[in-house]
Amino acid sequence: MTNVLSPPTWKSVYTLSELQERYQALRARKLNINLTRGKPSPEQLDLVAPMLAWSALNDHFAADGTDCRNYGGDIAGLPEARRIFADLLKVPEEQVVVAGNSSLALMHDVLTFLRLRGSPIEDGAWSGQRAPSFLCPVPGYDRHFAICEALGIKMLSVPMTDEGPDMEIVESLVRSDSSIGGMWCMPRYSNPTGVVYSASVVERLARMQTAAPDFHLFWDDAYMVHDHTDRPAEIPQIIHLSSEAGHPCRPFVFASTSKMTLAGSGLAAVAGSPASLKWWRSHVAVRTIGPDKLNQLRHVRFLKDAGGVRALMKQHQKIIKPKFDAVHHALSEALGNQEHVSWSKPRGGYFLNLQTPEGCARKVVNLAADIGVKLTPAGAAFPYGHDPEDRHIRIAPTFPQPDEIGTAATAISTCVLLAIAEKRELAA
Ligand code: PLP
Repeated sequence: MTNVLSPPTWKSVYTLSELQERYQALRARKLNINLTRGKPSPEQLDLVAPMLAWSALNDHFAADGTDCRNYGGDIAGLPEARRIFADLLKVPEEQVVVAGNSSLALMHDVLTFLRLRGSPIEDGAWSGQRAPSFLCPVPGYDRHFAICEALGIKMLSVPMTDEGPDMEIVESLVRSDSSIGGMWCMPRYSNPTGVVYSASVVERLARMQTAAPDFHLFWDDAYMVHDHTDRPAEIPQIIHLSSEAGHPCRPFVFASTSKMTLAGSGLAAVAGSPASLKWWRSHVAVRTIGPDKLNQLRHVRFLKDAGGVRALMKQHQKIIKPKFDAVHHALSEALGNQEHVSWSKPRGGYFLNLQTPEGCARKVVNLAADIGVKLTPAGAAFPYGHDPEDRHIRIAPTFPQPDEIGTAATAISTCVLLAIAEKRELAA
């Protein structure tokens, strides 16, 4: 049997039966590798071991004297926790709140408040009975789309370019259609392409004229400090720019420590104009008495400040970067010469996007699943789970062990080649 994994293993052209033989060889290895979701690996989680050793027994007072074991304190979170996010996001501390364990939950809250109670900017798209629609750059994040779907918000796809959403299309849509009430944006290391928005795209998003006066940017900065290189992804500050352009309430900025400390047990934050946060406080006060201050305190004790976060992220970088390199290497070896096959090469974040020839992505995902390599369902990165060209596959390389990653990428490459060959055979 062919040894499928030891280089040099790739020819420029394979017959269908040769590819089937390689595929069966991979099946015989009984792989079990999961690349479906962007999860930190156990090694990354181990980095915060000292935080887990912290005890509130003798350390439960915040800097302002709040006893974190009890109700009380500001619903917007401990000032020292807000300061960390304020520094990372480059906004004044009063313009950030720290609440809950999930930025996605904050996005869901804000969108629900908009739907049920209207926007901080009154008398616009969010004040009517009908739900406004949302612009969704594609490929994008499936969980953003799931929120819209659950709240009955119609999604309009906008293509991504290498520097962010296609702004010609965005500007023309929002200028002419007063029912468009918002837009998803992942400005740094977008999920799944890894694209970083250019300064020009950020400026245009802040300044553009919108037919809906209460148009909001949902600015999900989940990967703001998740660089794979020593060149951080710097982008202009959307809250300042929007404010300067006369649209202070346009952006809601979201972030969390899910992929810094503990996924699901971290801190989440939302930032915006003073009026937006006043609006947020008024609605959230109905939902909760206050956040988990002990979790905020243990994060503050461990991270200390924004510098502590950056130092921690350097350690993450060392673990993550080789995994992305392994994927690029394996894909380049196998698919480097394939027509209509490409993949993104992100400089940060948790994902990359593999593009197959049209009509192949679903087949590749199924083929890979059959030999034990689980990928995010094809189409998931599109509203309503429908990739019109059936071309996009999200790869999330952070969780598996480094040796598994190369094997997985080699297996995926084999599936891509096999899907192309089978399609060709059918067409012949
Ligand atoms: N936003 C993006 C772009 C993500 O990729 C993820 C998780 O993968 C989240 C938000 C979820 O973050 P949280 O754990 O803070 O809800």
